[in-house]
Amino acid sequence: MPVCITVEIPSDELKIDIVVSPTTSIPLIKHKIHEQTDIPSKQQCLSVNDIFIKNTDKLENYVKEDKCLITLKKMKKPRCPVCNKKTVLLVGDCSYCKYSYCSQHRLPESHDCSHINECKESQYKKNSDLLLSQKCVGDKVNSL
Ligand SMILES: [Zn+2]
Ligand SMILES: [Zn+2]
Repeated sequence: MPVCITVEIPSDELKIDIVVSPTTSIPLIKHKIHEQTDIPSKQQCLSVNDIFIKNTDKLENYVKEDKCLITLKKMKKPRCPVCNKKTVLLVGDCSYCKYSYCSQHRLPESHDCSHINECKESQYKKNSDLLLSQKCVGDKVNSL
């Protein structure tokens, strides 16, 4: 069932609606907000009822109905999207997902890097496709 999110941006006196699935990842939602508002994902601090939404969370942890209101605070300086603490300069930037993290969450494993998972998935798909195509060749050879 799709969820209709209303994103409220008090600093811009702006409200936008986006429709997502409850399993949509938070970075993807930020990306959708970015498409509509031009606010970079890094500068978005999202919360529901004053509860900070972590990048590593799933929307379904916060949303129990088919609609929800999210408040977006625009951050001038990036904050760690996992714990909302100050980020570390340079070494805090993840080269996979382009977010900045605190010293504790800067490694892809510690922030459950969405991008590295995508890389792994596409790699896995490539491998299984390859196996499948080799199997077809094998079958052909056997039938000769
Ligand atoms: Zn952190
Ligand atoms: Zn990352």
